[in-house]
Amino acid sequence: MKCKVLTLFPEMVRDGLTTSIIGRAVENNFIELETVNIRDYTQDRHGKVDDYTYGGGAGMLMQAQPVYDAWRAVAEERTCSEANDSVCSGVSNGTDQGCQLKRPRTIYVTPQGRLFTQDYAAELAQEEKLIFLCGHYEGIDQRVLDEVVTDYISIGDYVLTGGELAAMVMIDAIARLVPGVLHNEESAETESFHRHLLEYPQYSRPEEWMGKRVPEVLLSGDHRKIAAWRLERSVELTRDRRPELYARFAEQEHLIRKMTKNKRVCIHMMESLHRGLGEILYADENTVCIYDRHCKLGMLHAFTADEASMQQALTALSDAALQQASGRTGISAAERVRGTMCSIICTDQVWLDQIRREAETLHLICEAPVQYRQACYTQNNPLRVRHKDIRPLTEEHHAWVIAHGTGERPAYLAERLASGALYGAFLEERPVGMAGWHTDGSLGFLYVEEAFRRRRIGASLEAFCINRQLEAGYVPYMRVPATDEPMIRMQEQLGLYLSEPGVWLFESDYDTCAADETTV
Ligand code: SAM
Repeated sequence: MKCKVLTLFPEMVRDGLTTSIIGRAVENNFIELETVNIRDYTQDRHGKVDDYTYGGGAGMLMQAQPVYDAWRAVAEERTCSEANDSVCSGVSNGTDQGCQLKRPRTIYVTPQGRLFTQDYAAELAQEEKLIFLCGHYEGIDQRVLDEVVTDYISIGDYVLTGGELAAMVMIDAIARLVPGVLHNEESAETESFHRHLLEYPQYSRPEEWMGKRVPEVLLSGDHRKIAAWRLERSVELTRDRRPELYARFAEQEHLIRKMTKNKRVCIHMMESLHRGLGEILYADENTVCIYDRHCKLGMLHAFTADEASMQQALTALSDAALQQASGRTGISAAERVRGTMCSIICTDQVWLDQIRREAETLHLICEAPVQYRQACYTQNNPLRVRHKDIRPLTEEHHAWVIAHGTGERPAYLAERLASGALYGAFLEERPVGMAGWHTDGSLGFLYVEEAFRRRRIGASLEAFCINRQLEAGYVPYMRVPATDEPMIRMQEQLGLYLSEPGVWLFESDYDTCAADETTV
């Protein structure tokens, strides 16, 4: 990920981000950090970047010109349909022929922005490039903000003297979610705010300090008991210190219990909540709507058919997509929404037409819904894996993965590979099949080269992934096209329970929604 920070105090940002884990991430090129001194771009002979505000009032304001020129210096990444790049100036006067200037996500850190949260950090961690604009004095001339900013973000309801500390806070929180930055991938998953809980208390050596002993259960070696103890402490701590957070946790638990009655159909929603990916947007006795911001995925389920409820849930979904896109200026409403919603999973046929109508209004959906059955593995015991050489696929297998990831976008496959979510079955040191899990946690990517089929390599790969997910404490599940008989048989043979064909997936045109960029 590339982070570009536009500031009047570049040394402050550089010094603050070159130590410890983030420093190591920068050194190892997981994060590319560039600081740009806005003052270098002023056209004023005396190096001035600020002036008085029109209309009076105390304090100075950063002027538009140096900020815009500094932004252009880091924002320009042209895609030219003309062979001759020299015809492109990339400026916003609309005169360029065949030249598109990509607008990277540009964040103005400001107390007037949307509050920065762990969810927001996770969403931004998926971007390839982020530009942070740090204000100073009274802030920045609104005209340049209107021109370049996509997101207005605040780190809290207080006023700092400048945006540098805010940008550093955000970069730190975002960077540690970029795959590879933390050595132990697990640690970001079990920390505070995951599933709306604070983290449990932790202890290190010695076993006794100042007469206080480490809780016995942590020394027992019984991982189930330890997990249960930790969850209990997390719940207690959250209830005491952050009642509003606890209320959200309790609401989720209540809903998960309610969906358990229809587990096979609702497993994707239950796991989305359980894994801390989705949030409840709307729930009443009839309907539930969950939204996973990271996967840009909406999920709808009706416990009982009630038109008014379903309409409310759909409205909540479109509102959330629009709200997430609300800071994003300079692009059309349709483009904004496409950047925040890719797919909707609906589990009730009666609502298909209504969803299609709503989705069309929002320009969400480009394709007809596909019917699936959902398969889940509800036991605790791991499955037998016959094929012995199964291991994570790595960068060295990049070309093979792209060539064999049938139906998946290359950028998505590359992201899954970098996240360690793809596993290969190897024969004589080369991959002959793969499987893994999607960003929403569902299993997929199952593929075996033609010459190696009918040797149960596919079943071994799926069993291997199921075992990995069990170890992480998840209920493994996947979606199977309702007409794919061989795949359905394989799920049954592996011991998975299948839902009836009652799960529909509306998928957006990924190429347009993933691009999430525009011409300026
Ligand atoms: N006049 C501005 C207002 O009342 O909203 C405050 C300007 S503040 C003194 C100077 C700069 O610090 C801002 O332009 C912004 O970049 C940064 N800043 C201050 N508080 C912040 C916060 N809570 N979150 C993010 N950035 C903040």
